[in-house]
Amino acid sequence: MPARSAHDDGGVSEHPRRDDTQLAAQWARVRGRLQSEVGDVEYRTWLRQMSLGGIDGDEVTVRLPTRFLRDWVRSHYSDRLSALWQAENRGIRRVDIRVGESATDAAGDAAPEPADLPPAPAAAAEPVPAGAAVPGERGAEAALDPRFTFDSFVVGKPNEFAYACARRVAEQPASVGFNPLFLYGGVGLGKTHLMHAVAWELSGHGEAPRHSRPASVAYMSAERFMYRFIAAIRSQATMEFKEQLRSVDVLMIDDLQFLIGKDATQEEFFHTFNALVDAGKQIVVSADKSPSDLSGLEDRVRTRLGCGMVADLHATTFELRISILGAKAARAGVAVPAKVIEFLAHKITSNVRELEGALNRLIAHANLFGRAITLESTQEVLHDILKAHDRRVTIEEIQKRVAEHWNIRLTDMASARRARTVARPRQVAMYLAKQLTSRSLPEIGRKFGNRDHTTVMHAVQRVSDLMAVDAGFAEDVELLRRMLES
Ligand code: ADP
Ligand code: MG
Repeated sequence: MPARSAHDDGGVSEHPRRDDTQLAAQWARVRGRLQSEVGDVEYRTWLRQMSLGGIDGDEVTVRLPTRFLRDWVRSHYSDRLSALWQAENRGIRRVDIRVGESATDAAGDAAPEPADLPPAPAAAAEPVPAGAAVPGERGAEAALDPRFTFDSFVVGKPNEFAYACARRVAEQPASVGFNPLFLYGGVGLGKTHLMHAVAWELSGHGEAPRHSRPASVAYMSAERFMYRFIAAIRSQATMEFKEQLRSVDVLMIDDLQFLIGKDATQEEFFHTFNALVDAGKQIVVSADKSPSDLSGLEDRVRTRLGCGMVADLHATTFELRISILGAKAARAGVAVPAKVIEFLAHKITSNVRELEGALNRLIAHANLFGRAITLESTQEVLHDILKAHDRRVTIEEIQKRVAEHWNIRLTDMASARRARTVARPRQVAMYLAKQLTSRSLPEIGRKFGNRDHTTVMHAVQRVSDLMAVDAGFAEDVELLRRMLES
């Protein structure tokens, strides 16, 4: 079995020049991973026109057709490009981003579009042909995302349990009750992040060197696991494959739901799993559902998966989104006004990945144009993202949000009370109802305790006048409008 060939393909070669096809493949993977990190829209906007210039010593050149794109990519993606290149090819230390047409050498143009490739592999030292060495410490290290550490993981109510379990496993692998560790939750909530964090710690890269000896950690997606298993069958090397997998200290399989319906691979996973647990090794698995909800997975596999520690990552809360945005902005060293952070946390509720993508774009934009981030610029720069998260706003929602904002009771929106503390917010709610919905003045009046349409008209006028003279008030109303806007 040509076990060595793993390294030719895996990008850990000390002779990066040796093979243009190899370089092209590495480049394709770098691009693919970048694309999956930043998302399609961002990738198409800024990165699609990148081409590989060539490699010189420890420096790889990436070209872009215009100065504008070069500057943009330089200021926003150079760190990620370097990190991804280094993960692919240890010989590379620097990425030079330049203006230039596609290189004439084959590597630039021959690199397939990331979209043509299989999903960006998160697997260690991949692609690994059948029978190649299971990634040990070095391999795992090469593919782990350096940003995914415990340090950079923001803890809040929805994820504190999963976080604590992951930390515990990183500190004391294979302890009773925590093996296997099964992490589950929806897309973009931090499963892969936590797994990488555990892998970093265990393979000896943690903040404190707790372990006498770095463990050999094999981290791979379930898809990669299957790929390798099938490749092993084809080349009649299943024995080697099994032995190699079973020689690791820690096995981590990400996105296990992928194995549903893949019976032979499931079977193999199950045997490996049992062998490792019996040998006192730690297993960490992630999936999009809990073991009991993973229908289609064999019962005995499900049972075994659920018999260690099962921890879920819940959907984010407003508070967690605020903390994450705050932490990421601080890390990037960029001043993002609290109002913008609140606005984003209100608007983008789907998952952390999207939240992060939005913030990154905002920061990128501010850096490029040297402009401060404001609510206006946010609205502008994130126009498409925000639109995708839009929904139709109702008068009830407006009343609720406005009441919350000024801390009055919702019932006061329809009450007869005329104290300024409730009358003013009520007027703002009417104003916003006029602005944001297609309801007529009489219809709006009815929703506010059967008030007359002239009252609504007066409220709209009053709020506009006040906004013109009171900047603080205007900003409050604007913030509310942006939050509610459809
Ligand atoms: P999953 O594997 O659950 O789909 P990921 O782990 O890939 O999600 O997370 C998506 C993105 O969101 C990553 O960039 C990750 O770093 C980030 N992320 C998720 N949760 C957190 C968190 N609690 N703190 C900081 N970043 C987070
Ligand atoms: Mg993941």
